[in-house]
Amino acid sequence: MTTSWWLYDHPNPHAPVRANGIRFHGYPQRQTKVRLIVVHTAENTPDIIGEDGGAEAVARYQARVERPSSYHLLVDSDSAVPMLPDQAVAFGARGANADGWHLSFATRAHLWPTKPAWWADQALELAAAEAGPRAKRWGIPLRRLTRGQIADRRTAGFAAHADTEAVFGTPGRRSDPGSDFDWDDFLDRITRPAPGPAPDLMETLMATELVDAHEQLADATEAQAAAAWMPHVARARAQAGAEPSAASDFQWAIRIVRGEARLLDAYNAIVDAA
Ligand SMILES: [Zn+2]
Repeated sequence: MTTSWWLYDHPNPHAPVRANGIRFHGYPQRQTKVRLIVVHTAENTPDIIGEDGGAEAVARYQARVERPSSYHLLVDSDSAVPMLPDQAVAFGARGANADGWHLSFATRAHLWPTKPAWWADQALELAAAEAGPRAKRWGIPLRRLTRGQIADRRTAGFAAHADTEAVFGTPGRRSDPGSDFDWDDFLDRITRPAPGPAPDLMETLMATELVDAHEQLADATEAQAAAAWMPHVARARAQAGAEPSAASDFQWAIRIVRGEARLLDAYNAIVDAA
């Protein structure tokens, strides 16, 4: 039977058998409520060619690593891999495990400034979608904690592994998620409303009398999917210095949805056109 948690479905032969009968680095049941959402980078080689296998590669690694190491969730540019249930204790950071929830990006801490913009964009979006509802459920404010706040063992918030290690372990031993990790962008994405369908376009499509019902439905579905891509395209176009245009955003978004252009190709084309 699979559980949908990677480390339960892939027992680690180097870990002890836990109370739930599974070998993994961690404990099946936390005793303390979550105070810290701890952000990491996994320090793997990121995968930016084709399908992103970064998170999956780190997941496989954690299922056989000897030293105690585990996260709750791994994120790359196209997937979020649940490693352990939220109520389990992961071994993510010294001093921040009993009351920590551990989220890790499948990249290296020093690579944020040089990695393709689309990678960070998509990975941050996925991470925000996972961390946001949890923060809300656990009453965790959307703020990055200082080392002093981490040390008080009371203040709730988001924490860098570098900071929890500095407080509870050895200062300087860890740097993740990196000094260039964009905390403001990450936390902003949690508060930003999810992109919805573009109402005018939907209305226009639904009002087209010449299109039969099946086509309308297909178009509406496509338009809805495209609407979700529009903020990404708008950001790419803005970065490229293009004039703001919802129509252009939508055209590019449709191409992405139809598989005619990946976001990176679209971005490059936008830069060429701008
Ligand atoms: Zn870490």
